[in-house]
Amino acid sequence: MTDIKSMNLDELKEYMVSIGEKPFRAKQLYEWMHVHLAASYDEMTNLSKGLREKLEQEAPLVVLTQEDLQISRIDGTRKYLFALPDGNMVESVLMRYEHGNSVCISSQVGCRMGCRFCASTLDGLVRGLEPSEMLDQIYRIQSDIGERVSNVVVMGTGEPMDNYDHLIRFIHMLTDENGLNISQRNLTVSTCGLVPKIYDLAKEDLSITLAISLHASSQEKRQQLMPIANSYDIHEVVKAAADYVKSTGRRVTFEYSLVSGVNDSEEDASQLARLIGDILCHVNLIPVNPIKERDYVQSSHEAVLSFQKKLEKYGINVTIRRELGRDIDGACGQLRRRHMRG
Ligand code: SAH
Repeated sequence: MTDIKSMNLDELKEYMVSIGEKPFRAKQLYEWMHVHLAASYDEMTNLSKGLREKLEQEAPLVVLTQEDLQISRIDGTRKYLFALPDGNMVESVLMRYEHGNSVCISSQVGCRMGCRFCASTLDGLVRGLEPSEMLDQIYRIQSDIGERVSNVVVMGTGEPMDNYDHLIRFIHMLTDENGLNISQRNLTVSTCGLVPKIYDLAKEDLSITLAISLHASSQEKRQQLMPIANSYDIHEVVKAAADYVKSTGRRVTFEYSLVSGVNDSEEDASQLARLIGDILCHVNLIPVNPIKERDYVQSSHEAVLSFQKKLEKYGINVTIRRELGRDIDGACGQLRRRHMRG
């Protein structure tokens, strides 16, 4: 099936010509999909009925359907469960901040990275998402709330760098001035550290933020938490991060989920500071969100604060991730899993 929502404007023009239409129709269609966020061809009233029917037949529009919505009573965070055209499910989250609406999207159905504390990976990878399926998570949410989405983070289920070509296409389309036109500076992509892909991303000439899930300050500890560390040593990851800063001029973010008694001591903090101290970076501390399949315990508030203080003493910029949506299956992949089990 042809997926016209994953085509850029030039490709869409070619497609329209190939089905015997005038190229200018492509611009109208592109706007319906990527500016007006139309959920069906029926809405596209300046296209002839004949054309709409032809498109419906040959290129059914990729539109996600909302299967579930949980709204946090604490902070208004909205967690969506969407069905893809093939029936698979993904989660997306809307977080409301003073500076705007931020959407966290999934990049794959499931994940094969195997991080020990993460619920998204427990059943492995089903498939990577199409660019249209990544875009439509944002389009459905913006349509649902009737407000503009200003920030996007690719931090939901999946490893974006394991779906690299679709990710790059998604980034170009999301930030396209003919589409939603979200600033690249307001887009963050998070990776568990696929080193060769970090070098590739640095060459793409983008001004997005790269977040790297480090979660440890030594290779040994990282291996315990993240199987990907068996493929790429922590020092290679840090070197790739430094290269990214050098090539793009963009500050990187290191994510560090704090697990009680595993990686949250002051000694861990000093070691981390020595590891990344020379890099233009920012550390985002995340108290681990316990999942029932594992017995990891969240670090105490005191441990989190002293970890932060220690890093700051070394001159490192640190924030503690606000735990939004605590009451609504906050941890990655939990909502989808609950539905899969029925
Ligand atoms: N695969 C990408 C993006 C998805 S996960 C990556 O690894 O970065 C987004 C972030 O949430 C990652 O830093 C991930 O390690 C972290 N994470 C996953 N499960 C978590 C949990 N239960 N508690 C805290 N952080 C978690």
